[in-house]
Amino acid sequence: MKQSAMKAKAATSSTKTSTTSKASRSHPYVYNFGRQTDGNASMRELLGGKGANLAEMAAIGLPVPPGFTISTEVCTYFYAHDRSYPRALAGDVKTAIGLVEAQMKKTFGGKDNPLLVSVRSGARDSMPGMMDTILNLGLNDVTVEGLANISGNPRFAWDCYRRFIQMYGDVVMGVQAADEESHDPFHELLDALKKSLGKAQDSDLNAADLQSLVAQYKELIRKRTGKAFPQDVYEQLWGAIGAVFGSWKNERAILYRQQYGIPAEWGTAVNVQAMVFGNAGDDSATGVAFTRDPANGEKSFYGEYLVNAQGEDVVAGVRTPKPIAAMEKELPESFAALEKVRTKLEKHFKDMQDFEFTIEKGRLFMLQTRNGKRTGLAAIRIAVEMVKEKLMDQRTALLKIPAESVDSLLVPIFDTKSQKEAQMIGKGLPAGPGAATGRIAFTAAAAEIESRKGNKVVLCRTETSPDDLKGMLYSQGILTTRGGVSSHAALVARQLGKVCVCGAGEVTINYEKRTLSAGGVVLQEGDYISINGTTGAIYKGLIESADSEVKRVLEGSMKPEKSYTYELFQTVMEWSDKYRRLRIRTNADTPAMAETAVAYGAEGIGLCRTEHMFFEGDRIDYMRQMILAVDQVQRQEALKKLLPFQRKDFVGLFKAMAGRPVTIRLLDPPLHEFLPQDDAVRRQLADKLGLPLEFVIERIKALHEENPMLGCRGCRLGILYPEITEMQVRAVFEAAASVMTAKNPVPVNPEIMIPLVGFKQELADQLAIVHRVAKEVMTKNGIEIDYLVGTMVEVPRAAITAEEIAVQAQFFSFGTNDLTQTTLGLSRDDMGLFYDEYQRKEIYNKNPFASLDQTGVGKLMQFAVENGRKSRPDLKLGICGEHAGDPDSIEFCHRLGLHYVSCSPPRVPIARLAAAQAALREKK
Ligand code: PEP
Ligand code: MG
Repeated sequence: MKQSAMKAKAATSSTKTSTTSKASRSHPYVYNFGRQTDGNASMRELLGGKGANLAEMAAIGLPVPPGFTISTEVCTYFYAHDRSYPRALAGDVKTAIGLVEAQMKKTFGGKDNPLLVSVRSGARDSMPGMMDTILNLGLNDVTVEGLANISGNPRFAWDCYRRFIQMYGDVVMGVQAADEESHDPFHELLDALKKSLGKAQDSDLNAADLQSLVAQYKELIRKRTGKAFPQDVYEQLWGAIGAVFGSWKNERAILYRQQYGIPAEWGTAVNVQAMVFGNAGDDSATGVAFTRDPANGEKSFYGEYLVNAQGEDVVAGVRTPKPIAAMEKELPESFAALEKVRTKLEKHFKDMQDFEFTIEKGRLFMLQTRNGKRTGLAAIRIAVEMVKEKLMDQRTALLKIPAESVDSLLVPIFDTKSQKEAQMIGKGLPAGPGAATGRIAFTAAAAEIESRKGNKVVLCRTETSPDDLKGMLYSQGILTTRGGVSSHAALVARQLGKVCVCGAGEVTINYEKRTLSAGGVVLQEGDYISINGTTGAIYKGLIESADSEVKRVLEGSMKPEKSYTYELFQTVMEWSDKYRRLRIRTNADTPAMAETAVAYGAEGIGLCRTEHMFFEGDRIDYMRQMILAVDQVQRQEALKKLLPFQRKDFVGLFKAMAGRPVTIRLLDPPLHEFLPQDDAVRRQLADKLGLPLEFVIERIKALHEENPMLGCRGCRLGILYPEITEMQVRAVFEAAASVMTAKNPVPVNPEIMIPLVGFKQELADQLAIVHRVAKEVMTKNGIEIDYLVGTMVEVPRAAITAEEIAVQAQFFSFGTNDLTQTTLGLSRDDMGLFYDEYQRKEIYNKNPFASLDQTGVGKLMQFAVENGRKSRPDLKLGICGEHAGDPDSIEFCHRLGLHYVSCSPPRVPIARLAAAQAALREKK
């Protein structure tokens, strides 16, 4: 929405100066650039990005039209003093204009050879298109004639004037379309004129036509505002400066700042610069370019230009610009000059630049440069190649790559064109990155059938349970309508490297009718759906996607030397490993997952959720039999069946990890995740276990908990049923013994972890069992096994009593999923209902289950670290909640002094880079 009222106010405030308060003048208000340059690139805070880089370009001898920047401190003053300016500013601006006049040999408001200027915003971080710009300022009924004479081109002069009135009328005087359905009133006049003259293009209008249009524009302004279009050039200038400062608080800019976390206090600078004309004939042009390709990072000149045009023509899209390569033929001398500038910019700024230029009668001018936005792949390629080209060192290069962008080298991605053309039908939480497309399956069984037919599948569920694991394995992606990013579906999907969108509240799944409805579209089971787990977007139909080359190399289906992307990936990983201090472990429950994680660079397992080891095949039934058991005899019977599975799995894990630490967490099954809710599955279970269905139903009823996440889970289960802990510990040590004493022995390094501890007595209870059983197995096998026993810190009480708990625990692993849940009093499965509103109101800057709440949960962690070390200085410290894969949270863990972070296998590379960046930032 446009802010006409605000603009009008800014305009009327014009040269109003404050008389009451003195501006504390720690810095000048105005910084020149050109022959005299006062600023430089390091002064972004004061001059904004655009102003600082204009100064830098001028200082290194690039052709920058002269001008000056009014600092961001004036913006702060403007808002603090009822939109007025410090008293001295008017004089400073006049002096600065004088300097520009001298360099351009033109006069501002002069009738013979008038100086025209542009007035542009420029915040510390670029906010493209969010604030206002005015071009061709300084034209009036007299100077337009002067411009016509001196250029020998009256059409050009009148075209500049009508463009200026149009922009000024809109931006400064608030003459705009009445609402979103109406047309821009200036465009309406322009179109009507062309129609009445039978001319199709703007360029068909001659000087006389444009002159009559100017008269109409001025009349429109007078009618709408009751004021004449200002003829005084300084009045024009102050109107424009006020509008640009005023646009810092327009609705678009506020929204943009919220989106990108830009503080309102920063303010914008205002850049006033001599106009140069890309519309001065066929030897003139304007364009934008990148020094390298921002999509793939290739070192090729990338950009576009328009001959005989001004900047806004490129943006408005009225004419289609040509690719920059075409300039080599069309304007060869200008192209050669531009190539030189391209090289100089990179050499100087030591990063890929995105710049704007104008060519006026064959002469090149630079209007802006900034570090170019780029894709993840491009970020990596540019950083690696710039090190090779000696433009930067490894440390700088690593800091230039957003850690998350490593993901784009690993995940399957949609074909960009197909994605653009696809119909988006809804959005959920981005929970497992990448692109998945496939036929809708509503059950695990349907997913298996579809996949066996050779089709790709997306498993769509309201929520997932262990019964769905098989279906997840057969699927390309998982979509759920409930649950947060640390819900079961999300964390299992991430561990498996599956694409996942969860908590998509606007999507309705009707299992009976076998339909999925969203965004007014109803899809049937078997129809194609596509999900983007990086953005959370859900699309109707099939979108082409492909596996990443890096994944193919790591899986062995592609030769490393065939993939340049893999070479880039490897390089960044090697550099990261050189600089990081944190160790990177993984959350893995099966040998296959562990092997993938090791290929990605994992140095150990930081969390093996043993309950996940029972997801497969018949095991889930024995697990359920154990949970449903009414007495110890029944439980022992189920445990006896589970023991060999556990032992075999631990053997697999130990072998896969080959002596690296393996943290095995004792059973922690929130019962609602493990007991069947479905009648059919309950019946199957009863049949399988030879139990009456009524018994199964009754037991499930008896075990029902109102808050299973806070119920009989974690160490409470092992305390209630010590035989469960005993079986698990036995399986671990028997597996270790068998691996260590095998024909080809493999070293083992087990760490037993007790979940959900809040009292030291809970830990003592479980520790006694662990040590007793470990000793029994070691004595029986006549070997010594080095092992550690520690605890998760995942309820506030454990953090608060860390000093007591560390007396017995050899390590702490922060379970920040539960620690967030219990500290915030916020269910990790139920935030979908209010999350959007919380985000909109900026109550949560980020999802607290995805990125650590450092000021809340983080404080508890810090307290636990400091106090735990009081009783045990060599306390081993790690984190295994989902936050361990989030770069900001990793940096926080580095600062806390943790020894390792443990994340899902596909996030291991991101964690390696993020850990290196944390170490490098600390040194800076
Ligand atoms: C945690 O709570 O952070 C954790 C790792 O355990 P889980 O997610 O299995 O509850
Ligand atoms: Mg937990």
